[in-house]
Amino acid sequence: MTHMKPIHVIGGGLAGSEAAWQIACAGVPVVIHEMRSTRMTDAHKTDGLAELVCSNSFRSDDWETSAIGLLHEEMRRAGSLILGAGDRHKLPAGGALAVDRDAFSAEVTQRLGEHPLVAIERGEIAGLPPESWESVIVATGPLTSASLSRAVQALTGEEDLAFFDAIAPVVHRESIDLSAAWFQSRYDKSGPAGTGADYLNCPMTKAEYEAFLDALLSGEKTSFKEWEADTPYFDGCLPIEVMAERGRDTLRFGPMKPVGLANPHKSGTRPYAVVQLRQDNALGSLWNMVGFQTKLKHGEQVRIFRMIPGLQQAEFARLGGLHRNTFLNSPKLLDAQLRLKAMPRLRFAGQITGVEGYVESAAIGLVAGRFAAAERSGRACMPPPPTTALGALLAHITGGHLLAPGAASSFQPMNINHGLLPPIETPEHDADGKRLKGKDRTRAKKRAVAERALADLEGWLATARAAPAAAE
Ligand SMILES: Cc1cc2nc3c(=O)[nH]c(=O)nc-3n(C[C@H](O)[C@H](O)[C@H](O)COP(=O)(O)OP(=O)(O)OC[C@H]3O[C@@H](n4cnc5c(N)ncnc54)[C@H](O)[C@@H]3O)c2cc1C
Repeated sequence: MTHMKPIHVIGGGLAGSEAAWQIACAGVPVVIHEMRSTRMTDAHKTDGLAELVCSNSFRSDDWETSAIGLLHEEMRRAGSLILGAGDRHKLPAGGALAVDRDAFSAEVTQRLGEHPLVAIERGEIAGLPPESWESVIVATGPLTSASLSRAVQALTGEEDLAFFDAIAPVVHRESIDLSAAWFQSRYDKSGPAGTGADYLNCPMTKAEYEAFLDALLSGEKTSFKEWEADTPYFDGCLPIEVMAERGRDTLRFGPMKPVGLANPHKSGTRPYAVVQLRQDNALGSLWNMVGFQTKLKHGEQVRIFRMIPGLQQAEFARLGGLHRNTFLNSPKLLDAQLRLKAMPRLRFAGQITGVEGYVESAAIGLVAGRFAAAERSGRACMPPPPTTALGALLAHITGGHLLAPGAASSFQPMNINHGLLPPIETPEHDADGKRLKGKDRTRAKKRAVAERALADLEGWLATARAAPAAAE
């Protein structure tokens, strides 16, 4: 097999390291191109592969009730280098998987360095890779170097590579109170893909609006990192609290305008302001708060956004934020195997594809590595089933996210969460036949989702093991 031409992985972060490991374990040679040591990013401090730039936590490790814990378990079963090294260097952190960052990065660097099919080359890839590189994985992360970003942008078009994320909170549909909120598009317009009832609307009286505005203005905000501070806000994605500072009616004439909407719960009274949520995924389980990108601290977002009628019990799949972040409009640009439609020899992996977080980035590296290795060896490799956490995350970036009608791109980075997984019949009774209620029922439902995921993952892994290589 070693006479094969190598796959080139650009970026030796979480995704690139995992992708390279999966490729080498499939018997295919791989070259990792990592710029650090010759050129640093604004956040990395070492030249180690898979450096964790901020927190040292991989978040919850509970596969039964947490979607990120389920992703951990699936990655372990798929032979992940990142999860294996994380497990070997874990630190006490309750139910979370926290790691000794230096020992973790040292192990990833050492294991890749010692693998006979892996070569590590230090240096920036400052433009599109040469044509002689027939199979490439770009895993250069949120801080992709400027010259490579420009080259990718020339391929994708300006509006489809973002340098900043402006994330509005996303709410689990089942936690929205429909005795206060209602479905309706403004002026009942159905648009190209809608029904005229495409938004969930949360109405506010004058007193509710004024109290909400005061809370927004006084709520605690996070500050930009020094190197982010000079990146200007884009028009059209100003933080909600910055809009609020511009005048007490700015929001009422902006994202919270009450026009074209009639509250069926209180017919005859016009709301003073309305918060709209738009369906965010094809499953209809996640809804995003339109225009609510924010730099409020996470705890403050929960407190203040639960003041909104209909959202008093809201459970957030993702809270809002604004960060420097290089990411593609993946649902439009990538195919189901993570290849750039405009140049299929380039695959993308990691945070640049629009997932968020160390583990999610490594997970997409794992899948991209398997796709690339199978393609190189002439084997078929199906995507992981959408009922698995790996498959759900992949489906979100390659098609599961719904693009807002008329918007250039409404795609924003996403952590894994239960809302991305297809629903399942909620168990009514426990193993002893006792009727399940409240939290026990929710727990039983999550466990059923996790068991289905792990069973389907085993099927996928077995198919991948059995796939015959094409005759050479
Ligand atoms: C400031 C900051 C804080 C964060 N905090 C957290 C956190 O606490 N928890 C969390 O889960 N996630 C956090 N993230 C997100 C985090 O970056 C990702 O979760 C994860 O590191 C992304 O993995 P990746 O492999 O896609 O990118 P990275 O891990 O960043 O790896 C990309 C690699 O590509 C290299 N590279 C870039 N351009 C080139 C080039 N042209 N040629 C060669 N090499 C190149 C970089 O040096 C880097 O090593 C944070 C991100 C930032 C920017």
